[in-house]
Amino acid sequence: MEVNHYMRPQTLDEAYGLIQKGGLPVGGGCWLHMNGRSTDTMVDLCELRLDYIREVGSGDSNDFVEIGAMTTARSIETSSLLDEAFRGAFRHATEHLVGVQLRNLITIGGTVAGRYGFSDLITLLLALDARVNLYGQGQMGLGDFLSAPPKGPFLLESVVIAKNPYVSFQSLRITRNDFAVLNAAAAFVAGGWRIVVGARPAAARLCPNAQAACDAACAAAQGQGAAIVAPAAPSSYAGAAAKAAASETVFISDSRGSADYRRLLCETLVERAIMEAAS
Ligand SMILES: Cc1cc2nc3c(=O)[nH]c(=O)nc-3n(C[C@H](O)[C@H](O)[C@H](O)COP(=O)(O)OP(=O)(O)OC[C@H]3O[C@@H](n4cnc5c(N)ncnc54)[C@H](O)[C@@H]3O)c2cc1C
Repeated sequence: MEVNHYMRPQTLDEAYGLIQKGGLPVGGGCWLHMNGRSTDTMVDLCELRLDYIREVGSGDSNDFVEIGAMTTARSIETSSLLDEAFRGAFRHATEHLVGVQLRNLITIGGTVAGRYGFSDLITLLLALDARVNLYGQGQMGLGDFLSAPPKGPFLLESVVIAKNPYVSFQSLRITRNDFAVLNAAAAFVAGGWRIVVGARPAAARLCPNAQAACDAACAAAQGQGAAIVAPAAPSSYAGAAAKAAASETVFISDSRGSADYRRLLCETLVERAIMEAAS
């Protein structure tokens, strides 16, 4: 990768200004350095104090967790706050990323901004209905960000997620640190299910039919009109929902597995994710 000017801004304002003028933001640089891209100005975000995982909320309640863009995969993997708030799901979604050395570099900002189809973290974040803070441009849902990112340059500042004990991340890899053949996440968010299949190997996608099957079963179990605050026992609906997820998702063949293999795998991973999330 060729770089003419290397900049290390000290404030978000300064960084945002450089990026608006065409500067290329760099997080961990792990993916950037591999794609052979050249840039006139590289904007290193390492001095912006965006390396944090903290509880946020309104009043006395800290119902959300905010993760700064420069937080590394290793910090996410080893965070007891994330472990408690999301029952270990973030650890499961990061512990197989390459090796510890790279996990100490890979950032959540670079991961989300890159919108990689193979990403494990994005699958989990989408299931949890995370929101992204774009400096100077406000907040948007991750789903919207993935399908329609800002047209111009942006600086991703942080990711915000509502705490949630009803969540599970599943993946299958041929070897421990390879890309996933497939991954899946399920979460019960604000009274409804969110089920996501990723590394298909294309981008992570929600599974509306699977979600509807779970929601209908939970509504039936809890009675008409009752507010659903927790998922119903999943053994009666997880299998059918997993089949729905497999039939509504498009899979692609590559060196890690055929589309047919991924479809079968999807049933298993989604069923496991729902069972674990609801337990
Ligand atoms: C060898 C290798 C194997 C990997 N295996 C896996 C795997 O199995 N599963 C998995 O999920 N991931 C895997 N990854 C990807 C990794 O998890 C990260 O998603 C990836 O490296 C990007 O993170 P980064 O911090 O290195 O971003 P960078 O390379 O620094 O940046 C990536 C992109 O995001 C932009 N960017 C960075 N930060 C910001 C910001 N704050 N605001 C706006 N734009 C920004 C950059 O300009 C660039 O376009 C792998 C990466 C490598 C190098």
